[in-house]
Amino acid sequence: MSELKFGEKISLLNGGYVTIKKELGRGGQGIVYLVDLNGQPKALKWYHNMPDASFYNNLANNVMNGAPSSAFLWPERITERQKGSFGYVMALRPQNYFEFGNFLLAKKSFKSFQAMMAAAMKICNGFMMLHRFGYSYQDLNDGNFFIDPDTGDVLICDNDNVMPQGEKSGIMGKARYMAPEIVAGGIPDKYSDRFSLSVILFMLFYANHPFEGAKVVACPCMTEAYEKKFYGSEAVFIYDPNNKTNLPVRGIHQNVIRRWPVMPAELRDTFIREFSPEMLKNPQSRMIEQNWGKLIASLRDKLVICPHCGEETFIDEAKPQCMNCGRDVDVSRRLKLGLRTLLLTNGTRLFIDYDNTPDARVAVNPQDRNMLLLQNLTKEKWTAETPSGKVKSVEPNEFMPVKHGIKVGFNAANKGEIIINNQ
Ligand SMILES: [Zn+2]
Repeated sequence: MSELKFGEKISLLNGGYVTIKKELGRGGQGIVYLVDLNGQPKALKWYHNMPDASFYNNLANNVMNGAPSSAFLWPERITERQKGSFGYVMALRPQNYFEFGNFLLAKKSFKSFQAMMAAAMKICNGFMMLHRFGYSYQDLNDGNFFIDPDTGDVLICDNDNVMPQGEKSGIMGKARYMAPEIVAGGIPDKYSDRFSLSVILFMLFYANHPFEGAKVVACPCMTEAYEKKFYGSEAVFIYDPNNKTNLPVRGIHQNVIRRWPVMPAELRDTFIREFSPEMLKNPQSRMIEQNWGKLIASLRDKLVICPHCGEETFIDEAKPQCMNCGRDVDVSRRLKLGLRTLLLTNGTRLFIDYDNTPDARVAVNPQDRNMLLLQNLTKEKWTAETPSGKVKSVEPNEFMPVKHGIKVGFNAANKGEIIINNQ
């Protein structure tokens, strides 16, 4: 086993070196050190034992290609082979990011549903970009994700097992996150990553595992053979409407029991479909990342500030009541944006594109409490066209009235129209 000492210099491939400052942590694969690279603090992951040449070459390639998106704490430099092993350099994880596992144990919780939705969107987008680069993630689990509970920003770590699709890193993923076909011995690809993505999203929204219900609780001792059954050949979704053998257990799976009925119906329907026996057996029909992105955008379009209690609530259009205070919420004012419908209530922030930055804020007109305004939070000017054809520009930070029939040009790609029902 290879360990490094304070002050040691480790040479990097293609020149330069890092100086070891102190140990930050250790795991099964290696030790993470705080290092200095040309005066910059960085993290160095140093493997206990030298992995093989193909692993080294793959990692060197990933360094050269660069990160698929800002969601990844990607390897920035790789060291030369030395002292019986090697390692790679990455950015330090900022203080305000916490391991996803902490959210599952309720040691940390999202500040808001808005932050939760931002985290889901960032994870989806990260996977989409990863697959676009031709990679698959392989070893996905709750220890790879670090989340800022206030903003929902996500960093995906441990990217050393990321491989071109169709190649196997040789490091087995954790069974709880692997697709059934991988548990059975298959090679990870974008389809199996999509299964892992839906597991991660389920856990993000409901804080329990989608396949851990009564069957798993009844298991006397989790052996490899049982794991292969519960997460592979005999996996049953805890809310499978046609198979109630693995329902969540009261007192153990409280999070999902409490949240399942509260979160929007389209989310429930999606998980029931994605975790159905048919979908478990047909990896190629699993939902693509873009459609997860659309679903999350659609949930966010229905997440409003309740005008009565001031809390966030998802709105079920069939029964528009606040999840917190139970009072009726007036959702007659809307923004139509292509196929999307964004509900407008005072204090609600709107996300026009998928970048997790609010683009507009709904406010009350101080001169007329019955009239809502839309504030431009972007750096671009909008155009607002009245039904009679008058066009005005709405500069950054400026307000425009929420009036029926006004067409808003947010940018070249996004044009919307304000609709007030019963007008
Ligand atoms: Zn309320």
